[in-house]
Parts: sequence; C-alpha cells; structure tokens
Amino acid sequence: MNREPKHAVQRRLRSHGLKARKSLGQNFLVVDSVRDAIIEAACLTAEDTVLEVGPGLGALTEKLAASAGRVIAVEIDPSLALKLGKKLGGYRNVKIVQADILKQDLNALVGGSSYKVVANIPYYITSPILRYFTRAADRPALMVIMMQEEVAREVTAPEGRMGFLAVSMRLFSNPEIIFTVPAASFYPVPRVDSAVVRFNMLPGPAPGMGDVDDFLEFLHCGFASPRKQLRNSLAIGLKIEAAGADNILRRAGIDPGRRPGTLTLEEWSGLYHASGAKRC
Ligand code: SAM
Repeated sequence: MNREPKHAVQRRLRSHGLKARKSLGQNFLVVDSVRDAIIEAACLTAEDTVLEVGPGLGALTEKLAASAGRVIAVEIDPSLALKLGKKLGGYRNVKIVQADILKQDLNALVGGSSYKVVANIPYYITSPILRYFTRAADRPALMVIMMQEEVAREVTAPEGRMGFLAVSMRLFSNPEIIFTVPAASFYPVPRVDSAVVRFNMLPGPAPGMGDVDDFLEFLHCGFASPRKQLRNSLAIGLKIEAAGADNILRRAGIDPGRRPGTLTLEEWSGLYHASGAKRC
C-alpha cells in the first residue's frame, strides 16, 4: 500500500497553522492506491468536466486534473481553499471555489456542460449531498463518491431490502459499491470504514413516477415506521386510519402485512398512484 505517512499530512496542516476540523468532516485520504482506484472508477477522459466536493488538501484534485479536461473543486474551508489554490496554481484546468456545495447553482458552476461528480465527501452531509445532486435540474452524468460503508450498503441495498434512501436513489440511478476502504486510509483515522459507490445516472427519473417531489414525499410517509407492517407505517405517515391504508394497499395489489423495505420501486410507484397522490 503506497501510503503518505500520516505525520506528513499532519505536518502539512501544521505548517499552515491548520488542524483537521471534525465539524467539517475533515478526514484526509492518505493512500495513493485508493485515490487511483476512485479515479479509475470514474472512467475519465479529456472531454470530462469533474465537479469535486470538498477537495481538502487535494488528495484527489491533482490526479483529477491530469485525467479530466476540467476540474471544479468546491471547498467550504477558506484556509484549505486558499492553500489548494496556491498549490494547484500551475493547472490551468482547475478552478477552486470556496463555498458550501449545498448552496451552489450547479448549472452556473459547471458552465452548462455535462459533468461527473468525483469526491470523498464530508460524511456528515452525505444524504443532503446525494439529494442535492439527484434533485437538481442539472444532474451529473455519473457520480463516484466515497462515503461511510454502512451508508453505502444502505444506498445500494438490493430489491427486497430497500429503505427510503435506496428507493429514492434508484429513482435516478443504478448505484453499485466499487470497493471498500479501511478507516486506516485516512488522517485523522475515522471511527468507521468507507466504501466508494458509483451512481450510474439515468437520463431522467425512472418512468411512471409522476411528480417526483410528490412521490418522494409519499415515499417518506410509507417509511414513517419502517419496522411496522405497511398498513400501519402508511397510516402513521399519511395520518389516516389503518383501514384507509389497508384499502390503498389492496387497490395497489400489495399485501398490507408486508414491511415497507420489501417493496420494489415499481410497487412503490403503483402504491403512490393508488393513493391518489396523497401527501403527509
Ligand atoms: N477530498 C479530500 C481528501 O480526500 O483527502 C478531503 C475529504 S474530507 C472527508 C471532506 C472535505 O469536504 C473537507 O475538506 C471539508 O472541509 C469539505 N467540506 C465540508 N463541508 C463542505 C461543504 N458543505 N461544501 C464543500 N466542502 C465541504
């Protein structure tokens, strides 16, 4: 394993009067082979525009710049953004933007072109980041994202075991775990292992869903109490009697005694339509 000594990352931070900020999810990747495998998973060419979330000290950024046509890296920490801007000043195809990714106009950021997201993201905002990119009008063509292994397993759960996150991501993509990454690959060492997930994005939301926001709101109601039977979970979510939920489920041809996690995306779609698109 080609590992940058952890003390070297620590020294680099210290020499700039910096410390890893836990509150910003700063766990820096220190293993080159992991970086290389992430970049390989994104199948980059000189035609690609890459949006990197949270470049930090640039563990991925420089290699991304060498593999893609253009890299836009959005870093919230002003000190890191400044330091990285100086370090990568020689790369004319890299732009460092100091900002919160969740407040960006994606179309303006990438200049209207198609783009791929490649990132080791801050884990504390994994769900908001996934939501942000999948609900945006200008969705990426592909996402290769390092996240907490447990969340990666949740996102990529197979049909029959899909929670809210898995169903909502299946609306927009086919997600797959590419490889897992031990906690020791980062400085500081986090408490959890990680995994790299590739989201092969669909050209649009899965067909037959109707209003996507409304569908997701309904889905949220369906998972109101995921351990309970669907008749009860749905009744709690929709704030109706269990008998009403029973009727909706029977209209959709779904056994009310099943658990929410056992439904396929198509079954959720059928249930949504049978409900008369009722919101919580
Ligand atoms: N990519 C680097 C690496 O692999 O070593 C750093 C990854 S670290 C897990 C996450 C990075 O995201 C940190 O640099 C952190 O400052 C940055 N970050 C945290 N919240 C952010 C936000 N809302 N928008 C943009 N960057 C953010």
